[in-house]
Amino acid sequence: MTEMIARFAPSPTGNLHIGSARTALINFISKSQNINSKLYLRIEDTDKKRSTVEFKNNIISGLKWLGIDWDNEPQIQSQNINRHLEIADRLLTDSKAYKCICSESKLSERRKKINSGEITSKKICISCEKNTEVQNLEKDYVIRIKIPFEGNGIIEDVVQGNVEIKNSEIDDYVLVRRDGTPTYMLSVVVDDHDLGVNFIIRGDDHLNNYFRQKFIYEYMNWKIPRYAHIPLIHGEDGSKLSKRHGAVNLIDLKAQGYLPEAIINNLILLGWSPKNQDDEIIQLNSIISKFDLKSLSKSASIFSYKKLDYFNNYYLRQEKNLGLFINYCQSNLNLQKYIEKDKEKLIRIFNIYKKDISQYGEMINIAKIYFNLNFETTKNEKFQEEFNNSFNNFLKLINNIKNWEYEVINLEIKNFLKKNNIKFPVFGKPIRYLLTNNYNGPSITDIFMILGREQSLERLNKYKISNGRLRR
Ligand code: GLU
Repeated sequence: MTEMIARFAPSPTGNLHIGSARTALINFISKSQNINSKLYLRIEDTDKKRSTVEFKNNIISGLKWLGIDWDNEPQIQSQNINRHLEIADRLLTDSKAYKCICSESKLSERRKKINSGEITSKKICISCEKNTEVQNLEKDYVIRIKIPFEGNGIIEDVVQGNVEIKNSEIDDYVLVRRDGTPTYMLSVVVDDHDLGVNFIIRGDDHLNNYFRQKFIYEYMNWKIPRYAHIPLIHGEDGSKLSKRHGAVNLIDLKAQGYLPEAIINNLILLGWSPKNQDDEIIQLNSIISKFDLKSLSKSASIFSYKKLDYFNNYYLRQEKNLGLFINYCQSNLNLQKYIEKDKEKLIRIFNIYKKDISQYGEMINIAKIYFNLNFETTKNEKFQEEFNNSFNNFLKLINNIKNWEYEVINLEIKNFLKKNNIKFPVFGKPIRYLLTNNYNGPSITDIFMILGREQSLERLNKYKISNGRLRR
């Protein structure tokens, strides 16, 4: 197989978005399918107004957290500006580009006419190219690429198939701004070429850019890479995935307590499925051996938080992932407190509740109940007579259990109910309520085990029966 040189090229203008993470993941999987391949990370920070170091760091740490790796140090695009400008100069010298001094108002006048259909050509500047005075200027101009009016551009895209558009649809876009800085459109091509990139996997919002960028390759006599433009992710209402749908940045998903394995599992099944549909739970190693980029659907995929919760619940239940829970607690101010107070207790709570939660963040409210030393139930419940009549005896029984072990407690409770001929719900629900302020939840033996003997008794003792009447 030929060597694949790929790259992931995020702009640090926001935190790592789940859609970008998917692009990175697919790049990583594709490169991992061939040992001779390389994947580079390039931070495209030429938009200085919107790019920040914090966003760059967030993207890098988000990728690392997901387990996505790359070769070499990340490349910082703004450090290559001189090289980009050198290519713009070459294009000028070769008459493949020209200087333009059109004012913004002149351009917008023309843009209006183009958009309304009054003018069929997309050529935005019609005067500068032929004006020698302008072409001889030393400063205060933008450099535009020259796009021929005739002919068509064709792409054989790995995901989108063959797509063709007329060159007349493309405008003479800007390569270098008036302030002398190169645009994304120029920098991306120069950097990809210089890195030897031969396979570009990116979002299909860049498909149109292919038809623009290919001219730089052609004018420079550079080999055009292969492309796979992958469809974007949409929310369940069909619109582009955004905050309205839920957390969309990796940092927020991590803070809520989602696991990398669940995110990867969910992302890879968007628009692709393994041949055996039962392999719905699929991890990176197995994805690498089974994934086939060519079979990725070219229509937008729907991101479902319900599905993500399902996968997350699956992965957080795994015994081997307990360490991830501890890491999460250490990074969460609320849970950190509990870890410091009683780590074993927090782990007991987690192990009992994990089957019912889909994010680690849910543990905050659950643990709160068990760590509250001034625990009170919220309502003054009066339970059924049958319960009240035997509650004091039950208390005595619990008091007498010295060996606080699951099997022992379970057996004692069972025998007590049998002896007194009490049905479990009559007893179980109120006891659970007195211990946790909730009629539903884990078995009362589990709750006893979480709380320990002393605290269990303390909570139960708050509900006393005297002369058959309640006293709180
Ligand atoms: N920096 C571009 C972006 O974040 C990606 C460019 C590309 O993949 O060609 O959208």
